[in-house]
Amino acid sequence: MHVRRNDIIQVVAGDDSGKTGKILDVITKQNRVIVEGINYIQKHVKRSEKNQQGGRVQMEAPIQASNVLVVCQNKNCEKSGKGVRTGRKFLDNGDKIRVCYKCGSEIIAPD
Ligand SMILES: [Zn+2]
Repeated sequence: MHVRRNDIIQVVAGDDSGKTGKILDVITKQNRVIVEGINYIQKHVKRSEKNQQGGRVQMEAPIQASNVLVVCQNKNCEKSGKGVRTGRKFLDNGDKIRVCYKCGSEIIAPD
């Protein structure tokens, strides 16, 4: 998949199109991602030991990974702060990194 946990991404399709957020989780099998603050749903939960009250809980639902693009963190990039397509680059030591399609800088997921 082109995105990883902790990546900052921009949604490029659907109801949340244009919004940015951090990836909380990647569901590889379903090709979906869960993004902080994106695609909220109301989940109804029963009373339990953990949640004495029960009721509704707001949480993020997974969205299609193909609807998100990684945000380039390079301030000098013409697409800075926006979703970019990524390419791959092999370093001399054999490591594979993701790079911004526009400016070529490495895509780094903040911790
Ligand atoms: Zn860039």
